[in-house]
Amino acid sequence: MNEHPTGIDRDYLAEAATLLAHDEPFPGGAVVPPIYQTSLFTFASYAEMADTFAGKRRQPIYSRGDNPTVMEFEAKVAALEGAQAARGFSSGMAAISATVLAFVGAGERIVAVRNCYGDAYRLFERLLPRLNVRVDYVDGSDPDAVAAALPGAKLLYLESPTSMMFELQDLTHLTRLAKEHGVITTIDNSWATPVFQKPISHGVDLVLHSASKYLGGHSDTVAGVVAGSSTHIRHINEQTYSYLGGKLSPFEAWLLLRGLRTLPLRLPHHMKSGLVIAERLKAHAHVERVNHPVYSNHPGKATLAGYAGLFSFEVADDIDIPVFVDALTYFRIGVSWGGHESLVVPAKASLEQTPGVNSMARFGVSPRTIRLNIGLESVEDLWADIAQAFEKARK
Ligand SMILES: *Cc1c(COP(=O)(O)O)cnc(C)c1O
Repeated sequence: MNEHPTGIDRDYLAEAATLLAHDEPFPGGAVVPPIYQTSLFTFASYAEMADTFAGKRRQPIYSRGDNPTVMEFEAKVAALEGAQAARGFSSGMAAISATVLAFVGAGERIVAVRNCYGDAYRLFERLLPRLNVRVDYVDGSDPDAVAAALPGAKLLYLESPTSMMFELQDLTHLTRLAKEHGVITTIDNSWATPVFQKPISHGVDLVLHSASKYLGGHSDTVAGVVAGSSTHIRHINEQTYSYLGGKLSPFEAWLLLRGLRTLPLRLPHHMKSGLVIAERLKAHAHVERVNHPVYSNHPGKATLAGYAGLFSFEVADDIDIPVFVDALTYFRIGVSWGGHESLVVPAKASLEQTPGVNSMARFGVSPRTIRLNIGLESVEDLWADIAQAFEKARK
C-alpha cells in the first residue's frame, strides 16, 4: 500500500508535535493558557487608550476584535501553516464568507472548484448573486480548464482534495497560473490539515479551515480560521472581520488549543485506519469505486504528506443504501467529521438538503456515493461493522 505520497522532504508531523506540545509559560507559570472570559479590556489612562487606538501600543480593546486566548489559537495555526498571521472565526463558514467578501465585490468574479464544500457552494449560489458576484465552477484537476477561467477573475477558490468526491488540484501549478493573472488564491485545507499539507509553501495566499473538524478533533466545537500574509489578514480585519462579527469565543479557542495538542497523534491513526478500510472496500464485491486520494495519479498528490480518514465510495446497484446505513452501529449517521467518532453520510442526503441548490445533479455526483469518517475506534471493529451492514443490505 502506498502510505506516503511523494515530494515532501520535511517531517511535518515532528515539527507540529513540538510546536503544539511546547509553550512559553503563561501568567503564574501555568502550562495551559488562561481563558480570558472578558468582553473588554480597560486602559490605565486617557493617553494609553489614545495610543492603543492610534496603533502606537498593542493591547486588546474588545473581544469582537482581539482576545488573548483567541490570539494564542491564531498564533498556533499561523505557525502550523507557515503563515505570517491568522484570524479565528466562530465557524468555518464565518472564515470562508468573511475572506471571500473581503476580496470580492460587485461586478467581480470567483473561479471555484466543482464539488467544493456544500455550504460554500450554497453561499456562492445564494448570497453572491445578490451582490452581483459571479462564481464559475471548474474541474480543478484540469489546469487547462482553470487557466481558461482565470482571466479577469478576482479569486480562485480551491479545496484539495474536495470533501465529498476527493478530487485533487495541483496547487503549485494552479497558484502559478493565478499569479500570472493577478488572482488571489484561497484553499479549504480542513481535510489535510497543516500536518499533511502546507498550501502557503506551494504559493497559496490564504488557507481556510473548518476548525470544527480535525483541528478541534473532538466534535465539541464549531470554529474556523484563515491564515496568510499579514497584509491579507489585515485586509480581512479591516474589511469584514470586525463588522460581520463572526468572532471566535475564548472558551472555544481554549478547546481548540487543547484539541490541537494531539493533532499529530490523531491524524496518523485516522490515516492508517482509513487506508485499511479503503483497501478492503476497494476489494469488496459490492463496491464500484473508492474516492480516496491514495488511488489518484494526479500531480496534486505531491503536496500531501499523508491522508486524512475521510473518504467516500460508491456501492453497486444491488446494495440498498438506507438499509446499509441503518445497519451500521459504530458508524453513526451524521454530517461533520474529523472527531474521535466514526460517521457515515450518504452523499444524496448531504448534497440535496437545500431545494434549488443541488450540486449533486449539477456536477454529476453518483447518488450511490457514501462518505465515511474513520474515527479512533479499533479498525477491526469498524470493518466488522461495515461487513455485516453489507450482508444486511444486499437486495
Ligand atoms: C464543515 C466544513 C466547512 C464549514 O465549517 P463550519 O465550521 O461547519 O462552518 C468548510 N469546509 C469543509 C471542507 C467542511 O467540512
